[in-house]
Amino acid sequence: MKHIVIIGGGFAGINLAKRMSGKNRFHVTLVDRNNYNFFPPLLYQIATGFLEVSNISYPFRKLLRKKNNVHFHIGEFRNIISSENKVILSTGELQYDFLVFATGVGRNYFGMENVRQNALPMKTVNDALELRNHLLQQMELATIVTDEEQRKKLLTIVVAGGGPTGVEISGMLADMGKTIVAKDYPELVDNEYNSYLYLVDASDAVLKPMSDQSHKDAYKALTEMGVTVKLKMQVKDYVNDVVIFSNGETIEAKTLVWAAGVTGYVFDGIPSESYGRGNRLLVNEYNQVKGFQNLFAIGDACLQSTEIKFPNGHPQLAQVAIQQGRNLAHNFVAMENGRELKLFVYRDKGSMAIIGRNKAVVDLPGNKMHFKGFIAWFMWLFVHLLSLISSRNRVTTFYNWAVAYFTKDQSLRMIIRPSKK
Ligand SMILES: Cc1cc2nc3c(=O)[nH]c(=O)nc-3n(C[C@H](O)[C@H](O)[C@H](O)COP(=O)(O)OP(=O)(O)OC[C@H]3O[C@@H](n4cnc5c(N)ncnc54)[C@H](O)[C@@H]3O)c2cc1C
Repeated sequence: MKHIVIIGGGFAGINLAKRMSGKNRFHVTLVDRNNYNFFPPLLYQIATGFLEVSNISYPFRKLLRKKNNVHFHIGEFRNIISSENKVILSTGELQYDFLVFATGVGRNYFGMENVRQNALPMKTVNDALELRNHLLQQMELATIVTDEEQRKKLLTIVVAGGGPTGVEISGMLADMGKTIVAKDYPELVDNEYNSYLYLVDASDAVLKPMSDQSHKDAYKALTEMGVTVKLKMQVKDYVNDVVIFSNGETIEAKTLVWAAGVTGYVFDGIPSESYGRGNRLLVNEYNQVKGFQNLFAIGDACLQSTEIKFPNGHPQLAQVAIQQGRNLAHNFVAMENGRELKLFVYRDKGSMAIIGRNKAVVDLPGNKMHFKGFIAWFMWLFVHLLSLISSRNRVTTFYNWAVAYFTKDQSLRMIIRPSKK
């Protein structure tokens, strides 16, 4: 039996693992630093208290329960000794025939140390919980302080990064300001909350990779909801609760949400020639890492520029990761059977972003058709619900969404911090 070790059980890794299930000439070990798979596109709903963590995550061991040739191993990647086909983890070492990197990407602060230390990222479940606690804590403090300037600073939120994450969290915070904040925080003056909500981006549009129509619709919807959208503004520093921009402007804010950048991980044991732009591992059309026969990389972690349509690599999207995981599974079986390998071709299924209640934008593949408003919002809900990993997650998420939609409220806004011993 050939041993495949997959590092990372996100969209790419879990789809590869699932497709290898039942392929009894392989033994598969899925390694992850967490013991659960989670759904990053809905993290912002954890951060804003609209969903619970269990709605968007699921334990690996339960996912793999009936898959006899696939096993889970908790641990964090440390390094590889490729000459010995050995990977060293925080929890031991594993011998492999094939090693697959499916680790996704990490946060990128572009070398800004103060931003790294003080901004709040949104990449993991822990980040989302930390952000939720922080947001709620600032609101409570704002109800107590008497100094006007201090209250304004506590309530000011700057979201850096106008991609889907930045747009979605800004929209949800604005919606919350209109409905929930007005009811739960009577100490705050009417509309005060929404007047201090900023979305900033270095480019000239929000949702830059989407169509021009989506840029316009999203911008219009956000500003109508009370978000101040500032474009062509690049964060340069964040010191003493002041966000400093490269054009010299500043905003005093207790909260800087960092949704502005990602970068690949550097793996100890992989030479620098194997990395491309953004530290992504360079792979060929079969996702084989440059310079190695039995190392592969899939999903956000890899840079594959072999497709004519994507000379700079694929967009870092869930669909790319899912499709690469599935294609690699096909190729492992083909390799074993001496069949021809299938080169990876990305099937674009379009892109979408939700902005608020009954407001979203959807571009169909190739930007051929554009939807907005209620229909786009409904499409977004439908696609995201179906994309969740288990029927349990789909049912509980649907329930929480239904409650939020009909009551214009949710009751998941508890500040919970694990006690420190
Ligand atoms: C907030 C947010 C919103 C997004 N919204 C959308 C969206 O609306 N639509 C869309 O298409 N895409 C969206 N994306 C992008 C999408 O989530 C990624 O493209 C996708 O997750 C990539 O899948 P992956 O398997 O490569 O990596 P991931 O899904 O990130 O999985 C990586 C896995 O590797 C594990 N891991 C990482 N490092 C190590 C290590 N050293 N050792 C062990 N395990 C490790 C992690 O725990 C994780 O389980 C969003 C991303 C974020 C962060």
